[in-house]
Amino acid sequence: MTANNNHRGLYIDGTWHTDTNDDIESTNPADTTEVVGTVSKGDHDAAVEAIEAANAAEAEWSDLSAHDRGAYLRDAADVVESRFDELVTLVSREMGKTEGAARGELQRTVDLLNYYAEVARDAGGHAPPSASDDTVTYTAREPWGTAAIITPWNYPIAIPTWKIAPALVAGNAVVFKPASQTPTIASELVAAFDEAGLPDGVLNFVPGSGSEVGDELTTNDGIDVISFTGSYEVGSTVEQAAADAGKRVQCEMGGKNPLIVDETADLDLAVDLTVQGGLSGLSGQACTATSRVLVFESVADDYLDRLLDRVDSLEVGDPLDGVDMGPKSSASEMESDLEYIEIAEGEGTTLAAGGERLTGDEYDDGYFVEPTVFTDVDPEMRIAQEEVFGPVISVIEVSDFEEAVAVANGVEYGLSASICTNRLDHAKEFIGDVETGVVKVNQTTTGVEMQMPFGGRKHSSTETFKEQGRQAVEFYTHEKAVYVM
Ligand code: NAD
Repeated sequence: MTANNNHRGLYIDGTWHTDTNDDIESTNPADTTEVVGTVSKGDHDAAVEAIEAANAAEAEWSDLSAHDRGAYLRDAADVVESRFDELVTLVSREMGKTEGAARGELQRTVDLLNYYAEVARDAGGHAPPSASDDTVTYTAREPWGTAAIITPWNYPIAIPTWKIAPALVAGNAVVFKPASQTPTIASELVAAFDEAGLPDGVLNFVPGSGSEVGDELTTNDGIDVISFTGSYEVGSTVEQAAADAGKRVQCEMGGKNPLIVDETADLDLAVDLTVQGGLSGLSGQACTATSRVLVFESVADDYLDRLLDRVDSLEVGDPLDGVDMGPKSSASEMESDLEYIEIAEGEGTTLAAGGERLTGDEYDDGYFVEPTVFTDVDPEMRIAQEEVFGPVISVIEVSDFEEAVAVANGVEYGLSASICTNRLDHAKEFIGDVETGVVKVNQTTTGVEMQMPFGGRKHSSTETFKEQGRQAVEFYTHEKAVYVM
């Protein structure tokens, strides 16, 4: 194995701890003979210690002005920026997304830190005028206390940032548990805050298993508020456990995102949106990934010819080699895709492209799955209903707009949706009728802007509070109505 020169610890009360019983070793999914990093593995006790450190730090942290708290975020952004290229490479090597996608993620990380530093300048309440001239009325926002942040591996630094940044500027202390597939890049975010001089205990980092560290963070009385992103399977249990324990909780979960291609669509654009949204960059491993294309029968053949030509030209390989698509992030993710491909074939679909694990010298040490397209897909099939989270596109033919909307909405998820059209009436009706948290016209289902609220409906999100944007701070704060004579 390639030498591993990167061993990070748990980060509790401002100190790195590598003296744990166990480690998590992450390998490069494009070449598993390469160890990317080793991070100490925390357990129940470490989680408890981190929660206690956060509880002890939160009062002093919340006493700082939001301006002062924001300054730490700006400094952390400078640290990330100073190591930009190194961290881009680390994201690609640990998670497998292409260099371009990793670059986008790192830029978003820097931007988020700077954005929430700015939000801190006026993250307070508002001041609706009182009915009485003698009274001053305003609302104040106060932190909840200690936040647990539990994150997935597919945006291993940007998602933690968009949760941790608003939690911190709002005056909360944080205990952060990253996904076990990507603890190294997650530890670099924590290191940036450490280098920025964040006071001890304000941010704590406990990598470890979901059933141990995650469970402790979900149930421990020292946690006041939980922000989780991951699968519906886990998120729904976190949501229930948090509700039972009386904690505020926000869960962002899966998606089964449709792209509608109507009879007026620019078909080259539709192909671009399909490939960018569902295949290239992250190999379909985005919660907002395009996984269903609902194409009007009248243009289906033409669209499909162009799509298959494009898919055929996609280069798959080492994500740092300028390819279109890298590997799946882990063996289990690859196996899961191959299982879904088998299920789809068994359901009577037609495999129009891909469908196999890639083999050969370039691929044998990695987890590469071919970009895959199924046609003759019925909306009720499992391949059209369940989140695959891989480079697998289901093309479903629809006869008209009403059917397209019904199929788009006929799944348990409701995260993102897009329509490719030149008809304003279709665009307007789709915006109104689709049951998702994000809707786009002539854009990919993936990709969101940080000042916009993010979240979904149905099984995609708890929907109580959105992430990102200024309103993210609301999730981490109580609002108090103040009357002064
Ligand atoms: P996952 O649900 O397996 O894990 C997410 C996190 O939860 C990890 O840190 C994991 O260790 C932790 N966890 C596992 N069991 C736990 C438990 N019992 N208690 C507490 N925490 C526990 O998801 P994943 O495989 O890391 O990520 C992929 C999923 O994330 C996909 O479903 C994807 O759609 C979703 N996702 C959603 C969004 C969004 O914003 N909606 C964004 C990215 C990813």
